[in-house]
Amino acid sequence: MGFISLHNHTELCGHASGSIDEYIKAAIEKNITCFGFSDHAPVSVNTRESMSSEETETYIDMVLSAKDRYAESIEILLAFEVDYPLHASFAASYFTDERIDYLIGSCHFIDGWAFDNEKYIDEFSKRDVDDIYTKYYKTLESLVSSRLFNIVGHFDLPKKFGHRPLRDFGPTIESLAKKMSKEGMAFEVNTAGLIKPVGEMYPSKEIIDIFFRCNVPATMGSDSHSPQQAGCGYDLAIETLKAAGYRKLTVFRKRKPFEIVM
Ligand SMILES: [Zn+2]
Ligand SMILES: [Zn+2]
Repeated sequence: MGFISLHNHTELCGHASGSIDEYIKAAIEKNITCFGFSDHAPVSVNTRESMSSEETETYIDMVLSAKDRYAESIEILLAFEVDYPLHASFAASYFTDERIDYLIGSCHFIDGWAFDNEKYIDEFSKRDVDDIYTKYYKTLESLVSSRLFNIVGHFDLPKKFGHRPLRDFGPTIESLAKKMSKEGMAFEVNTAGLIKPVGEMYPSKEIIDIFFRCNVPATMGSDSHSPQQAGCGYDLAIETLKAAGYRKLTVFRKRKPFEIVM
């Protein structure tokens, strides 16, 4: 089989480069057979790091038209990466919109601080690292409980710049994993972390082991912000998933899960 990539951006979000066509051409070259666009849904703080509410329909039209145009060579899926809890500018009707294949729920803000943006990296030195992780996982817990999403984005994102927790968050992660499994919510192996200061995928091998034990469905994405990133680090991602015990990946079409053999 070919690869799948369910987490990809476009130039519409303001911090990525490349048109939809450029991403698709790069994906076909990398032998990706199922490629999902999940650009940043409007975030309800004015950061210009997402599409605006007015651009949402333009984005949907662009992806759906590409889906038709490339139907012979690749499966294109329509999705959004939605910020939790800052999704108030993303109209509520999109959460049940039948055109959308899946929603990735992601937390990029703690107390209004965009902790994954390198512009605000100084804030890490002013805070207690365990407190950051505690608040982050609490947000994920409410994200999962909201039942609004199909996939949890980059599960251990606060490690992006190399800040690791001091205390063991294993039990917290395990309880989250059980909740996700119960809700049929997947995690993604997100390879973008490999090219960030932390130099490893999200989530870590240890977390993937917990997810496998708790029966959490797995999916994959390169979180590409340029066409060149499409499918990057996939050999390592597959190897890590297989080592944990995974043999299947999950894709979502019209919000329903489908398993495919790895
Ligand atoms: Zn982004
Ligand atoms: Zn994200």
